[in-house]
Amino acid sequence: MGNKSAKECIFCQIRDSKNNQAPFYEDDEIFAFEDINISSSRRHILICPKQHIKNVNQLNYLDIELVKRLEQVGIQTLQESHPNQQYRFGYHSPPLNSIDHLHLHGFVLPISNCINNKILYGYFLTSNQQIIKKLEKQQPML
Ligand SMILES: [Zn+2]
Ligand SMILES: [Zn+2]
Repeated sequence: MGNKSAKECIFCQIRDSKNNQAPFYEDDEIFAFEDINISSSRRHILICPKQHIKNVNQLNYLDIELVKRLEQVGIQTLQESHPNQQYRFGYHSPPLNSIDHLHLHGFVLPISNCINNKILYGYFLTSNQQIIKKLEKQQPML
């Protein structure tokens, strides 16, 4: 669990187009790009906040809208390229997150037969709904 600064962060470099990989989607707070390293499904995308948030543990209830939007962008993207298919979205929680910049994985199912991919993306993903539920519990009563 390296303590890499945002400066060295590969996802921040992609966000800033300082990497040979560029985002295919970008708005004020979110960017998204293809996960080309692992061919774990017909399409595998990563949707990230532009802000260098390290992982799901650093989110709080003020981020609920952001978290919802991450998945909305993902669904929209996959529906455009692979309409009427099944998708899966989820986060890796520490210590399983390989990159210290919050990213939502988005897949067109099925995930490849490679056993490592099946385990990593089948069992160890925390869903957006689980995260939202957790954040909603932190919300102070009005
Ligand atoms: Zn970063
Ligand atoms: Zn991950």
